[in-house]
Amino acid sequence: MNRLQKLEPEIIWKYFEDICGVPRPSKKEDKIINFLTEFSKNHDLECKKDQAGNILITKPASRGFERKKTVVLQSHMDMVGEKNSETDHNFETDPVEPFIDGEWIRAKGTTLGADDGIGMAAQLAILSTDSVTHGKLECLFTVDEETGLTGAFALKPGFFEGKILINLDSEDEGELFIGCAGGIDTLATMEFDTEDIPASHSGFIVKVEGLTGGHSGDDIHRGRGNSNKILNRFLWNLNNRFDMKLVRFDGGNLRNAIPREAEALFSIHRDDTGPMNDYFASFKEIVAAEMSDAEPGFVITLENAEIAGPAIDEDSQLDLLYSLYACPNGVISWSRKIKDLVETSTNLASVKFVDNRILITTSQRSSSDSAKADVVSMVESVFRLANANVKKSGGYPGWKPDQDSEILRITRSVYKKLFNTEPVVRAIHAGLECGLFLEKYPDLDMISIGPTIKGAHSPDERLHIESVRKFWDLLAGVLKDIPEN
Ligand SMILES: [Zn+2]
Repeated sequence: MNRLQKLEPEIIWKYFEDICGVPRPSKKEDKIINFLTEFSKNHDLECKKDQAGNILITKPASRGFERKKTVVLQSHMDMVGEKNSETDHNFETDPVEPFIDGEWIRAKGTTLGADDGIGMAAQLAILSTDSVTHGKLECLFTVDEETGLTGAFALKPGFFEGKILINLDSEDEGELFIGCAGGIDTLATMEFDTEDIPASHSGFIVKVEGLTGGHSGDDIHRGRGNSNKILNRFLWNLNNRFDMKLVRFDGGNLRNAIPREAEALFSIHRDDTGPMNDYFASFKEIVAAEMSDAEPGFVITLENAEIAGPAIDEDSQLDLLYSLYACPNGVISWSRKIKDLVETSTNLASVKFVDNRILITTSQRSSSDSAKADVVSMVESVFRLANANVKKSGGYPGWKPDQDSEILRITRSVYKKLFNTEPVVRAIHAGLECGLFLEKYPDLDMISIGPTIKGAHSPDERLHIESVRKFWDLLAGVLKDIPEN
């Protein structure tokens, strides 16, 4: 054991290794909760737990620092359990085994859980050492960040008192995060009647494949193809040119993924087969040329297909094709204050046929809650025009970047003093727990920092050793420079 013992600062690596030894997959946090409770007993620190399992450990100020503002240090205690297919590992019972690989720490065949085990380790190190001076500290450990932010959702007002919160869950040393996007899903449902397919028709299946996909927040600005949009563009054009009857449309999967695949079953008049094949060839060429940079793997295929069952009625067919075409998709606006930050976007995530209904799932994100509401209305309007029933679900608020934040000013200046270089100040176009904290604690001044982690959520996850020392020095420096009340 203690493979990481030679690393420095010793105390953070000691706790990181201890935490690796405690199984803690999302929604199964009982072992790590016990570990934290034991830790607080051993160090004679006040500890409380809320109904969701979130833990708060409080440490009094260092002598002479009693008048400083209280700081909340926050991490999440769960981790994503992913392993290589050949690795035998049970994330509910087996410890993660970290090892040194050159400049990095990795785990044997599994996720390392540095996301966010290293954030927790920093908290425990500071809670247990006298070598860092600070005002009153509240260390918040949330449950279940990775599968729906449910710990942060359940957090009640008044659980902690600090007005400055440092989130320890970001993954790029040298970058300070000051904002994230809020999100919501907008779901449209269309009901359809059926129509028989004329005897003069032949059936076909068209498939879009080979697209890159990606995260609907982090990757939305990369100009990647949306399989639902491409497939619908083809069908819309067929509908304009030929007597086409749509039987089924099936595309995309996860609400937070850019869809990579889609297929549709349809029929056209037998005599139109030749002209349709010509149109298909030109469509394929045009779309492949448009996307040759972003999507070199794009494939669209058209084949004869046996069609069992009827087509959808003509009005529903038009409602579907027109609304999918008109539905906004991709980046809606860029931040004017933060360079290269997508402010608002929407993703046409999936189209599914279930019985006599069509379910269309879209998701919107924005770091501005009002801009998010605006794009939701835009999407909702498109589908209402097409006689769909529209519902919203799963909304969570964003964290709007504040360039004048006090904790940003302090962190920036400590960073410059320590490392002689300007940190990059960024916001991300994806959800963080910070957005949810703001809902309960509207006056919080927040920042998110962390060491460099690559390949998070995969067995390739690795933690950059030297960046941990910088992360530690930065955190200690910031705590020392927090102003008095
Ligand atoms: Zn995380």
